[in-house]
Amino acid sequence: MADRLARVLTVDGLVRGVAAVTTDLCDDARARHGTFPTATAALGRALTSALLLAATGKRDERLSLEFSGDGPLRGLLVEATPEGTARGFAFRPKTDVPPRDGKLDVGGALGTGQLCVMRVPLEGGSMYRSIVPLVSGEIGMDVASYLAQSVQIPSAVGVGVLVGRDGAVTAAGGYLLQGMPGADPAMLDRLAARVEQAPPPSELVHSGHGPADILAMLLDDLPARVLEERAVSFRCRCSTARVRAAIIAMGRDEIGALVAEGEPAEAVCEFCSTAYTVGADELRALLDSMAAGGEGASA
Ligand code: ZN
Repeated sequence: MADRLARVLTVDGLVRGVAAVTTDLCDDARARHGTFPTATAALGRALTSALLLAATGKRDERLSLEFSGDGPLRGLLVEATPEGTARGFAFRPKTDVPPRDGKLDVGGALGTGQLCVMRVPLEGGSMYRSIVPLVSGEIGMDVASYLAQSVQIPSAVGVGVLVGRDGAVTAAGGYLLQGMPGADPAMLDRLAARVEQAPPPSELVHSGHGPADILAMLLDDLPARVLEERAVSFRCRCSTARVRAAIIAMGRDEIGALVAEGEPAEAVCEFCSTAYTVGADELRALLDSMAAGGEGASA
């Protein structure tokens, strides 16, 4: 099953759902950052959560989740767009802690701390920011708690990552169900009970369920329409041009020092681990162009 995300709305308009299969995306993140199993699960759950939340937001904003905790993992920073791209990293990627109840102990790795949710408009405008304490550090529960506390939308969130013996991600995915204003509380309770009894999302993905299948299974007898289905992938916004801009921002003295040493400038994007090298010749050219620009400005 290729990575996909689906959005549905029940025919009565009272429950909306988003689900995603994110196996390749999570394994891409693992390979890029070299994460160990517990960190792989934590990062995959966070990336999947960000995609689900971004799909419920506005079309023109980016969503970011920053988990920080006092456990060995320390934290996670992930971002997603409504177009279905996500990027992110674990603060300590080589984190692996003993399993708890036969499962990867993401909550133990993250510890106690907080979740900061940001919605950043792409074209300027004011940023939305909300901070809530972590309830379990298991990611899905923390996101559900944020939705209940900060946005006050009754929500069920499930995210899961299955890591194989070789450390690669074998299945990953998640879902988010939300009651809209006017939804009958008794119906939402029945829905919550069904979600509770459902197999974890990683198992559903492992057994071949696509995102629309997962939602149909969770919504059971509620007739719903699929509003959208799209591909999702790990994609970063970094580029050679951005690295060059960052070097220019270092200032002429620092660049001049690098040029004097004949050393290239090296940078690694923390979101995707792509390494950039700007050679000595290019640095000299950058410095020359800055010098020309500086004289022009003062003349
Ligand atoms: Zn990057």
